[in-house]
Amino acid sequence: MSSIIQLLPDHVANQIAAGEVVQRPASVVKELLENAVDARATDIKLIIKDAGKALVQVIDNGLGMSVTDARLCFERHATSKIRQAEDLFSLHTKGFRGEALASIAAIAHVEMKTKQDQEELGTHIIVEGSKFVSQEVAVLPKGTSFAVKNLFFNIPARRNFLKSDTVEYRHVIDEFHRVALAHSNIHFTFYHNGSEMFNLPPSTLRQRIVNIFSGKTNEKLVPVQEETEIVSIQGFVSKPEFAKKNRGEQFFFVNDRFIKSGYLHHAVMAAYDGILKDGAQPSYFLYLTVPPNTIDINIHPTKTEIKFDDEHALYAILRASIKHSLGQFNVAPVLDFDRDSNLDTPYHYKDLTGETPTIQVDGNFNPFSEEKPSKQFSSYRKPEPTANWESLYVGLKQDTDEIGQMTFENEEVTSSLFNDEEVEHSVHKTYQIHKKYIVSSIKSGMVIVDQQRAHQRVLYEQFLVNMTVHQASSQQLLFPLNLFYSSSEMELIAELQLSLRNTGFIFEENNTDHIVISGIPVNVTESEVSLVLEQLLSDLQDGIPESSFSQNDTIAKSMAKSLAVKTGTHLTEKEQENLVNGLFACKDPNVSPFHKPTFITMRVEDLDKKFAI
Ligand code: ADP
Ligand code: MG
Repeated sequence: MSSIIQLLPDHVANQIAAGEVVQRPASVVKELLENAVDARATDIKLIIKDAGKALVQVIDNGLGMSVTDARLCFERHATSKIRQAEDLFSLHTKGFRGEALASIAAIAHVEMKTKQDQEELGTHIIVEGSKFVSQEVAVLPKGTSFAVKNLFFNIPARRNFLKSDTVEYRHVIDEFHRVALAHSNIHFTFYHNGSEMFNLPPSTLRQRIVNIFSGKTNEKLVPVQEETEIVSIQGFVSKPEFAKKNRGEQFFFVNDRFIKSGYLHHAVMAAYDGILKDGAQPSYFLYLTVPPNTIDINIHPTKTEIKFDDEHALYAILRASIKHSLGQFNVAPVLDFDRDSNLDTPYHYKDLTGETPTIQVDGNFNPFSEEKPSKQFSSYRKPEPTANWESLYVGLKQDTDEIGQMTFENEEVTSSLFNDEEVEHSVHKTYQIHKKYIVSSIKSGMVIVDQQRAHQRVLYEQFLVNMTVHQASSQQLLFPLNLFYSSSEMELIAELQLSLRNTGFIFEENNTDHIVISGIPVNVTESEVSLVLEQLLSDLQDGIPESSFSQNDTIAKSMAKSLAVKTGTHLTEKEQENLVNGLFACKDPNVSPFHKPTFITMRVEDLDKKFAI
């Protein structure tokens, strides 16, 4: 048979990539503004028409581009910002993928004018749907102007998918706020349909916030400042009496990049614990600076997520410093800085005291029975209903049958990993190292488990089973929880309600700006609910999957991510053992729900080899 694989032509590949990078006019705004900031502009103008659908233009007074670069910048993977893979770990720029301009040019009419300071003349280029229409020499001021017209002109389906002007305009404003707040030293102006909407002169951070969010904001702000080895924190939070019903003004910046983090949001909320009215939301503008090599932002071109090396410590520091500020400014009635920050994590099991492990004797154990290995496994995992340490796997406690079934199915997987003999002694003793890995001896050598990823896998499978096979059970709340969200977040929650019910959430009534929850999944604690939903909403910012299967999958992944023990968490020996056993009872213990390895093994021979040198 003849060969059938072909390389896609560049313009098709660019259009596909554009689907990732450019979802709406606001995505273009973000990319162009960030490029202008990266070009060290001190004055940036944003001009849009019809909420950006007809025009998005950004004019900067930055470095400009040479004639060659002006042409090259539209190529995919063309970037001046990184040269080698290592550079990814010391990023100082917003962009680095080199795909924004190629993507934008594939799906719009783009006109670019650019000139470097030292040059007499500049370059004027027109590109339409990846085709170069013209390139001329022109008399221009220093800097660059990008005009992006008729977004999605060649993809009518995408164009029709855009929301009303009001909604798209809202998204543009959001992006504008994020960039303007991250760079208060830059002069920004913003015009919509010919009217000036914002004029933000270079200023201090406090003035910038006030200029954006009106004069009254000033009296509401309390400064936050903290310097530690792993993070320095700067910024402002609002006094509790000014808390709002919805979550408009909440911003985290990490190394001057806007990010979303349900986990850090939870840390802020924890600092306000006891001083906010039910469901009230504080405003915050928090700037975290961390060493670039301790974060990973290389996740998705448009996502605003970030991975920190030590989220757990960050949580504690952030919470403590906000609490401190609220206290200093006499706005928090209760202060208790001396508490062990570990006790304040949102993880239920942390609050529980360890127990001396008890030896369980299985009276029915018959050494001659053929089902020996499975007995061994399931009797080990069937927990005493009252044993506190089991709370790490509350789900297992609730539905032993389900898990029993999973165990049974998993036996093969497990046995293929370790031969039968090993299964019997699968966990001799475990050691936790660097609050990150759990090491255990197995017959052939040793296994090293990544605690966070392993727990994600365990929780993910539990949630999936609950959602797809069985109706999950709920725990009724004594007092229903009121949680307030923006209108777009409310839309998302409404769309997901059925799947969320399947995990065990019970929704009372639907309002326009808040939800009322009267029951929650058994393996979630009340204090974790808002964190779980935050994370879910931020995971869904690019839209809700179509099929109910992938909706379940997304929810299970997101909940597993929020609830899994984090790197940096101390685990008792019993918790370690449970985690390792739980992992190897999973259907697919090898990888986390995010396809990262959960454990590695080292054979004795490998160790021998290392010592032979
Ligand atoms: P990235 O920002 O990831 O490098 P882009 O596609 O956004 O990729 O831009 C490609 C390159 O074009 C940038 O690396 C930069 O060298 C150049 N560039 C883009 N916008 C500007 C601008 N406003 N001023 C100067 N150079 C720019
Ligand atoms: Mg860029």
